[in-house]
Amino acid sequence: MNRHRFKSRIRGIKKKTLVMILEASKENHPKEFSAVLRAKDGIITEIMLLPGTISGNRHAIMQLHMLPVDFSVVGTIHSHPSPNFNWSRQDLHFFQKFGGIHIITCYPYDEGSWRAYDLYGNVVELEVVH
Ligand SMILES: [Zn+2]
Repeated sequence: MNRHRFKSRIRGIKKKTLVMILEASKENHPKEFSAVLRAKDGIITEIMLLPGTISGNRHAIMQLHMLPVDFSVVGTIHSHPSPNFNWSRQDLHFFQKFGGIHIITCYPYDEGSWRAYDLYGNVVELEVVH
C-alpha cells in the first residue's frame, strides 16, 4: 500500500493558481518546471516546489514517497517545452504510481496550453474558479 497515493475528488483550479503555474512554466522554458498541487475542498489552490525540482529536474518529484504524508497534496504539475501537452509513456507510469490528478502545461504556456489527467491518462475537465 502506497501511503502517498493521492486522493482525487478534484473539480477545479483557482484561476490565480493556474496563472502562476503557466508563468512558472514560461519562466523555466526551455527547461521543465514541476511542482506538486495542493487542494482545499476539491479546488486546487496552491503549488508547492519540492527541493531539487527546479532546473528541469523531475527526479525530485519522483521521490515524493520520501516526504512526510501531506493530505492536501493531490497531484503534480510539470511542463513540456514542446507545444504538446499529451503525456508520455514515462509520464503515465509516474501518474499511475501516485494516482490523483496531473497537470501538463506546454509551450507557449497561454490559457489553452494545459491539460489535466487522471492516473490512467484520461483527460479531466477542471473548472477554472475565481
Ligand atoms: Zn511529461
